[in-house]
Amino acid sequence: MASEHPPESPSASSSAPESPSASSAHEARRAPDEPVVIVGAGMAGSECAWQLAERGVRVRLLEQKPARRTPAAHLDTFAEMVCSNSMRGAAMTNAVGLLKEELRRAGSLLMACADATSVPAGGALAVERAAFSGLVTSRLRAHPRIRVEVAEVLEVPDARPCVLATGPLTGDALAADLVRLVGSAGLAYYDAIAPIVTAESIEWDEVFRASRYDKGGDDAYVNCPMNREQYEAFVDALLAAQKVAPREFEEARYFEGCLPLEVMAERGRETLRFGPLKPVGLTDPRTGRWPYACVQLRQEDPAGTAFNLVGFQSRMTWPEQMRVFALIPGLAKAEYARLGSVHRNTFVDAPTVLDETLALRAAPGVYLAGQVTGVEGYVESGASGFVLGVTLAQRLRGETVTPPPATTALGALLSHLLPSTLRGGPGFQPSNVVWSMFPALPPREGKRLQKRDRYQAMADRALIDLEPWLDATGARLVRAQASGSASTLERPGSGEALA
Ligand SMILES: Cc1cc2nc3c(=O)[nH]c(=O)nc-3n(C[C@H](O)[C@H](O)[C@H](O)COP(=O)(O)OP(=O)(O)OC[C@H]3O[C@@H](n4cnc5c(N)ncnc54)[C@H](O)[C@@H]3O)c2cc1C
Repeated sequence: MASEHPPESPSASSSAPESPSASSAHEARRAPDEPVVIVGAGMAGSECAWQLAERGVRVRLLEQKPARRTPAAHLDTFAEMVCSNSMRGAAMTNAVGLLKEELRRAGSLLMACADATSVPAGGALAVERAAFSGLVTSRLRAHPRIRVEVAEVLEVPDARPCVLATGPLTGDALAADLVRLVGSAGLAYYDAIAPIVTAESIEWDEVFRASRYDKGGDDAYVNCPMNREQYEAFVDALLAAQKVAPREFEEARYFEGCLPLEVMAERGRETLRFGPLKPVGLTDPRTGRWPYACVQLRQEDPAGTAFNLVGFQSRMTWPEQMRVFALIPGLAKAEYARLGSVHRNTFVDAPTVLDETLALRAAPGVYLAGQVTGVEGYVESGASGFVLGVTLAQRLRGETVTPPPATTALGALLSHLLPSTLRGGPGFQPSNVVWSMFPALPPREGKRLQKRDRYQAMADRALIDLEPWLDATGARLVRAQASGSASTLERPGSGEALA
């Protein structure tokens, strides 16, 4: 692959992180008509390519299909939904509903195609999968500034800027080359996602705040103490619970540091008491003693609206997680912002290896988008590709780069990847968009709103704050163009107009 820049030195991973301006310097040296190379035409790559192209930037979109597919793919078209055909909840009181609405208002290709191929799904946005993917493909192929090439990319391209959007099942060769740049600690192959409970659903009388041996501040953790009977019943329930079967490409080969809870329980009835349920050093102020076992909750957001269950990654089905976790003192009525999972997922330790422009600190000009950054889900992956497309176009055109406001779902999702959050640092795990990523609302007349009203107020705030960003990024123009051409959207194979 031709490049005006020398290849990255193999020692790049050990060099000191470069500032974001290093990426800008690369881009400033680029010939104005040189295309941006995007690897992967999934959710993120497709949206990123469209947003760049709509803003006048030429794109080379390298996609391995149909020559090669990931083990989860079945279609030869782009933006494939490999499992569910749902883009999840549509309501504004649902964080992903808000994210979709923001994308829609900002001129997202994926949202236009999803709305054009939607099927009835109650309160969710579901699509006819092949029609959606076919429509995205035909829109990208027809764009005069996008050149699609079939290529399985085995190394990080030399071209700058380039965007890697190869998704959760990034192949071994490219992943190994990425490790050269980010170091082996910077890339994970499996996620280990712990559930998150809302603070207001915790029974606070049943729990106590303390750190182990009172180190690190008295209230660093919320502790759910168990007596012997409660622990035994919890282990029995874990062992008997229904689990999600691994896919054929997912070996039941987990990292020892992040084993699913039930796998630990299978190793012996005491294993959990020496692992995530270790009670040592946790003095219950009501008894003055350490409990028999103890589940720890760690604060998820600065406002303390949500807590994650430490070490509770699990392959139990979601209904089973809710049933089994209800046995934990303090969590009998818990409401979950997210449930646990462990699956094959290639993603970087974003807070450490990415800068705020989504470029690799160790390789300026190499941007990441989609699930490989540490966002999770079709919509979130598309959203990260959207933000990168918009901001990279600004940078390439020499404009001031304006990231989405933190109060919007786009900005909140991005904040999950930045070093400046509680979620950053060691133990970074992918996440869907959830309300705890948003800045808290100021109390109204000293009172906190009820949950539903609070989410609605956060959504209202987001849509107001989005407006100036749409002006700053030229999104209105792109949206007008997208809706202008919506009348030409056709359901592939049917010849039937959709808009
Ligand atoms: C088994 C499975 C089930 C899932 N189920 C759901 C679900 O139900 N709901 C949900 O919201 N999310 C689900 N996800 C997550 C979902 O796949 C992602 O969130 C989303 O598709 C990621 O978008 P992306 O653009 O980052 O990657 P993808 O959509 O995976 O796109 C990556 C693209 O890059 C191409 N590519 C990869 N490597 C190369 C290479 N070396 N050279 C050239 N091209 C390459 C691929 O062919 C693909 O087209 C699932 C993931 C998996 C693995």
